[in-house]
Amino acid sequence: MTFIRVDRDSVKRNPRSGRTDFQVCTGPPTYERRTNEVSADGETWIITNQTTTRTDNVQTIHTLAPAGPFLFDYLLTKVKCVECNCEFDHTKLESESEDNGSSEYDWYSERVCPRCGKWDCCELEFEKLSNEVLGVLSL
Ligand SMILES: [Zn+2]
Repeated sequence: MTFIRVDRDSVKRNPRSGRTDFQVCTGPPTYERRTNEVSADGETWIITNQTTTRTDNVQTIHTLAPAGPFLFDYLLTKVKCVECNCEFDHTKLESESEDNGSSEYDWYSERVCPRCGKWDCCELEFEKLSNEVLGVLSL
């Protein structure tokens, strides 16, 4: 079991606390279209000094759980694969899912070894801090 600690210096208040919607930019926001130029994908986008925000490039995503009151990172921590004994930073772990024929859910692992591909290749425990502690750290 590898314990992954919260990076104390990274804790800050989440300005979006409590919200379940957030907007993602799905394309370049400051581009202007020129209709006389066509690229391979049928559209050419030219960067101009003028900022034109294309609202159709913004998508609103809704999450089931409201955003938490704090934002923080975890300290980069070495983990070891049980299969190939390779050591790497925990952020290098990969996620994979596989269709198991069930309509309810797929098999899923977010602890896939980046070297040998072993699923659930290590045991992790992420540190949990109370909102009181996070509040003090965010100051
Ligand atoms: Zn491995």
